[in-house]
Amino acid sequence: MQDLIRQLLADLGEDPAREGLLDTPKRVEKALTFLTSGYGTDIDNVLNGALFTVDCSEMVIVKDIDFYSLCEHHLLPFFGKCHVAYIPSNKVIGLSKIPRLVDVFSRRLQVQERLTNQIAETIRDKIAPLGVAVVMEATHLCMSMRGVEKQNSFAVTSAMVGAFRDNARTRMEFLELIKLRRTIPGAGDTASAGLAYVGND
Ligand SMILES: [Zn+2]
Repeated sequence: MQDLIRQLLADLGEDPAREGLLDTPKRVEKALTFLTSGYGTDIDNVLNGALFTVDCSEMVIVKDIDFYSLCEHHLLPFFGKCHVAYIPSNKVIGLSKIPRLVDVFSRRLQVQERLTNQIAETIRDKIAPLGVAVVMEATHLCMSMRGVEKQNSFAVTSAMVGAFRDNARTRMEFLELIKLRRTIPGAGDTASAGLAYVGND
């Protein structure tokens, strides 16, 4: 990979041999390897020992999970907040494992829609809950850095499964709970637009 990065630097018009760039191929390889480490992570290992049997079915919500991913079209970052909720049938996932799950799928080349769905489907498959909801709000540098229409650089995606899809009240309860705090840089006043988008799901 380091040879490729050196070639890339040369193709960009740089001198890969100049002092400031000497270690760049090594650094880029290390960074890219980390940012795509989700490919080599086994979900079952992540969740190992963190699935517990319960006999309540109250909504579990983990919100404002920071995530960083790379768009597969430009290899540029998109990042923001992820909100996850589910209603257990008889199993729950240890709370600290939800952000880990988000990391595993974020650290791959992604499109935001697929990333959102993968998180929801994994929770559905692992604990068969009554419902799962995942909402992701993200800024895409491939759009904001290239000066593409600013409002388009912020996107909200959602995946609603089971009770969250079938029951409007359950879905609204979740959406009300996650709109309390919005601290995404560049998000502006997209909160209502985001919810409108989610409502269309
Ligand atoms: Zn892109």
